[in-house]
Amino acid sequence: MRLLLVEDDAALADRLATTLTQAGYAVDRAADGVDAAHLGETEPYQLIVLDLGLPGLDGLSVLKQWRAGGLETPVLVLTARSAWTDKVEGIDAGADDYLAKPFQPEELLARLRALARRAHGQANPVLERGRLRLDPRAASVTLDGAPVTLTAQEYRLLHHLMLNPERTVSRTELTEQLYAQDFDRDSNTIEVFVARLRRKLGSEVIETARGLGYRLGATR
Ligand code: CA
Repeated sequence: MRLLLVEDDAALADRLATTLTQAGYAVDRAADGVDAAHLGETEPYQLIVLDLGLPGLDGLSVLKQWRAGGLETPVLVLTARSAWTDKVEGIDAGADDYLAKPFQPEELLARLRALARRAHGQANPVLERGRLRLDPRAASVTLDGAPVTLTAQEYRLLHHLMLNPERTVSRTELTEQLYAQDFDRDSNTIEVFVARLRRKLGSEVIETARGLGYRLGATR
């Protein structure tokens, strides 16, 4: 799952990027409002974390610009603790949730998981498909109850397919969700990851839709 982190406090941004990457996200970063606005409009993020106090263009203006342009990605805004008006303005401008600084990273992760669930119409925190279970809280996967060790890319690929169980997903879309922007992407590697997932989870877990991409199999 690809996520945009917009935060101009470099130390905080470093900490959050580490936490988010460990939780399984492919993280892109922006430290000013102009960069953030551009990235949000051009890259296919599943979630956005947006600090409101930013140089260049303030976070509220960035958010309004995104929503005016039709961007529907869930946005969580980061506000200063005392500024309750920021929260009201943020939500009115189209934010889906907010968090006041300082906050525990675990709370940010929990709120982001909830936003992702809502965006995909899921109430259950655990994704299930036949014998397969994926728990975003632990970034863990089990098959018939037995833990399966996946690399970050294998996990992201499987997660994206499990979030879109009824859909064929193109290799391009999978590539975009697997890597952060500064990564040297190669859509051919998707085939390699799919082959590895089939070896680890059973060949039926991912079906090939020839010329179109991949979809989740039945795993029964
Ligand atoms: Ca700031």
